[in-house]
Amino acid sequence: MTEVLKRVKEGIEVTGVGDEYYEFLRYPKVQMTVSIPVKMRDGKIRTFLGYRVQHNNARGPYKGGIRYYPTTDLDEVTALAMLMTYKCAVVDLPYGGAKGGVQCNPKELTRDELERITRRYTYMIADIIGPYKDIPAPDVYTDAQVMAWLMDTYSQIVGKLTPEVVTGKPVPLGGSEGREEATGLGVAIGAREAVKALNLGMKGIRVAVEGFGNVGSYAALYLHNWGAKVVAASDSKGGIYNPEGLNVPALIEHKKRTGAVLGFNGSKTISHEELLHLDVDVLIPSAIEGTINAKTVGGIRARVISEGANGPTTADADKVLREKGIFVVPDILANAGGVTVSYFEWVQNLKREKWPKEEVVSKMETKLVKAFHDVLGTSRRYEVDTRSAAFCLSVERVCESVKLLGIWP
Ligand code: NAD
Repeated sequence: MTEVLKRVKEGIEVTGVGDEYYEFLRYPKVQMTVSIPVKMRDGKIRTFLGYRVQHNNARGPYKGGIRYYPTTDLDEVTALAMLMTYKCAVVDLPYGGAKGGVQCNPKELTRDELERITRRYTYMIADIIGPYKDIPAPDVYTDAQVMAWLMDTYSQIVGKLTPEVVTGKPVPLGGSEGREEATGLGVAIGAREAVKALNLGMKGIRVAVEGFGNVGSYAALYLHNWGAKVVAASDSKGGIYNPEGLNVPALIEHKKRTGAVLGFNGSKTISHEELLHLDVDVLIPSAIEGTINAKTVGGIRARVISEGANGPTTADADKVLREKGIFVVPDILANAGGVTVSYFEWVQNLKREKWPKEEVVSKMETKLVKAFHDVLGTSRRYEVDTRSAAFCLSVERVCESVKLLGIWP
């Protein structure tokens, strides 16, 4: 059983929504596998496999990214589609959950080949996506340009310009302001609210950021701007530490210029494991999955962990975090800022409006702070940890909609 299913089962048991809903939510509503023949640069045809999995749409149209990755398969996409159902429900977005993918290696493909794959994939799934059916977005190795091709292909198929079929588009094509920093800001908000819940002030709290990429660097920047002291950061090449605090805007520039955090002025080099074990108040894992595991969890000293990455904590490590009394802001809550701004992009497109960045950011903050307190309330109500609470809350919300809709035919 996958981790998500275990959490869903637990959520169903704890909340008492009814055992039959486990079987109901265990399987996605739709799993589509498509073949994508593409003419390659040498004139030969190569056929790729693509997927779109729609897990549940009781709360609204399906929503979820599309990834292009060599090992992507139906099982992976299905597990991620399920996770989206609960991520959208925990922040109370009127969406269900979906995910898509094409099994390919974008690093070996030309831009033209990528465009042809995207357009043919869109054509193959066009019947099951749509502004009120299923709204894709970028994920691993897909970007705003890929979304623009998807939108254009879909629009041509249905015969009208339909920007609201996809989110994460370039801003001139209806993309939202604020999308780039949304996930990192959400992670920072999660950390800030947890710090407040522990009755600590933001001023001078020490933060370590694992994975100084899109999510990690924006989380660090916001926390820095709110008065925290970001003392450590890392990327795949290694980590840096300065107990006096890193100048985050300058570090972002340094990383842009050199491609790494290593060698930043006034910092000393540390290993990935040393970063995790630093004496800090807040730890932000925002690199890859499973870095907080049986081997690394023992040395963790942070009081708060706000999970930017998807699944950075393994199940056995999670148990240890609970025993240590560390306040965890779980991934489905902490990194939901991206999908929240995606939702705002969709709303802007449907209403043919363009909101300024400040409006997007402020609306997002309201949603995430509310979700944080909903999870905290659920955790108290059922006397469970915050990760279980996030699933209890989202399972309750999904099941409530399923019950109200009934089964037809
Ligand atoms: P990114 O590629 O911009 O950044 C990832 C960073 O992690 C890179 O700097 C990379 O060098 C570093 N890294 C890789 N392995 C590492 C390791 N072992 N130790 C330390 N650093 C390491 O990706 P991103 O968009 O910032 O995404 C980061 C995580 O957040 C992923 O798990 C992703 O699934 C998740 N996430 C991202 C978004 C989003 O909107 N970008 C939304 C939800 C979840």
